[in-house]
Amino acid sequence: MNIVILGAPGSGKGTQSEIIAKKLKLFYLQTGKLSRDWAKKDERIKKIVENGELVPEKEMTEYVKKYLEEKVPDGKNILFEGFPRFISQYKDYNEWLKSRGQQIDVVISLDITEEEAIRRLSLRRICDKCGEIYNLITNPPPKQNMCRCGGRLIQRSDDNPKSIKVRFKYYHDNTKKLIDYLDEKGKLIRVDADRPIDVIFDDILNRLAKFS
Ligand SMILES: [Zn+2]
Repeated sequence: MNIVILGAPGSGKGTQSEIIAKKLKLFYLQTGKLSRDWAKKDERIKKIVENGELVPEKEMTEYVKKYLEEKVPDGKNILFEGFPRFISQYKDYNEWLKSRGQQIDVVISLDITEEEAIRRLSLRRICDKCGEIYNLITNPPPKQNMCRCGGRLIQRSDDNPKSIKVRFKYYHDNTKKLIDYLDEKGKLIRVDADRPIDVIFDDILNRLAKFS
């Protein structure tokens, strides 16, 4: 089963994607990390990523396809995190998967309220050395302000209420058409993501079992 997981900033899509990919033995495509690695090699992409914007659609599609062709063994299913975001991008990937005898089977939308996103992201800390993400309440670091790897924990400059509101709106403006399209096609599972990590995880697994 090929799965896409979408969600606004703070919805926990990274956490859920990681545990679901592991549980279902899927190739985990972490688009955020992929763009950050790309940004290290390309100044123009770096500016886009730093502004919290999306890489132009076609370019991103080509880049990800090439990456997947190199990395994913034949027959292995994929979990796409936070991507595709547009109908045309979605169709592109479905075509690509069809050429491998597969398709995108289901898209999970992690629905979170803006209040909860602000609450969570304000508690988020990131290691400045390895990039590991902590939450001061749900996933606290072993020592105050220190990562498991020994790195220092910092708060992302755009994890403040004002920027979160902008990112939240940007996400919804960008994905709304795709979400509606998938809903019509019966490919969408909406999950209430305001709940704890393990509750959401169990809910997703139950609903995937019914879906296939
Ligand atoms: Zn670290």
